[in-house]
Amino acid sequence: MKDGTCIKCASARIVKIKGRAVWKDWKSYVKATSFICKECGYVEEWVESAKDRAELPKEDSMYDTIQ
Ligand SMILES: [Zn+2]
Repeated sequence: MKDGTCIKCASARIVKIKGRAVWKDWKSYVKATSFICKECGYVEEWVESAKDRAELPKEDSMYDTIQ
């Protein structure tokens, strides 16, 4: 997807939308970038910032962000 080709249908009609919030606990979030195929509708998301990834919770943690 990041290379501009859909991994599901091989279309090149990929739109990139930055800034969706991925909550890491009940009060803070990192921003993800969505890669959306306009042909088949497949959506892939990436936390692109290495700084944001470093601030994510530990691998074995699971936060319920719904309060
Ligand atoms: Zn597609």
